Amino acid sequence: MTATLLLASRNGKKLLELRRIAGALLPDLRVLGLDDVPPYDEVPESGATFAENALLKAREAVAHTGLAAVGDDSGLTVAALNGMPGIFSARWAGRHGDDQANLELLLGQLADVPDDRLGAAFICAAALVTPRGDEHVVHGTMRGRLVREAKGDNGFGYDPIFLPEGEGVTAAQQTAEQKDAISHRGRAFRELAPMIAAALGP
Ligand code: IMP
Repeated sequence: MTATLLLASRNGKKLLELRRIAGALLPDLRVLGLDDVPPYDEVPESGATFAENALLKAREAVAHTGLAAVGDDSGLTVAALNGMPGIFSARWAGRHGDDQANLELLLGQLADVPDDRLGAAFICAAALVTPRGDEHVVHGTMRGRLVREAKGDNGFGYDPIFLPEGEGVTAAQQTAEQKDAISHRGRAFRELAPMIAAALGP
């Protein structure tokens, strides 16, 4: 019988990434997104940490569908801002998902911070919850530093101002494959994949 996993997200890129990574270990796995199941009222991301938000999304998806589910939550943490925007990354400028406004506000806040204090990291928490109630949470990190001039058209969010450690270009100048190989989400999904295989495999 084919195992089915629900990713509690409407982001097509995340869905493809999880399909690729989990599919490598479990070729028969079917990975659905929220657009593939009957809609339900989604609770606000009210957790205090990435892990709490990832668990909220996964538990809610299991409760509404009866399927095993993965929830993920991610964001940018900037040392000079005491770890912010953190869990507020998507709505830093006030409106959920306004990438350009978020990026401009962040650069404005950092205007007087010296270049050597622009260290930052993307963090992703990914949670697997099964209908039996088993729960696993993992984290992935991509370290780097911010640059003041946005560069590149790929990716999303803060990618144009984020220079991953050891790379000469911003995350928005990398191909999807290059970024997946080092990204916070790629690392978290790769760590979760064996747990998915153990929970849903034959
Ligand atoms: P979510 O976990 O997909 O809801 O992402 C939360 C927010 O964090 C996004 O809206 C972006 O602002 C930021 N973010 C998360 N991951 C990335 C990334 O890989 N590149 C750029 N921004 C990101």
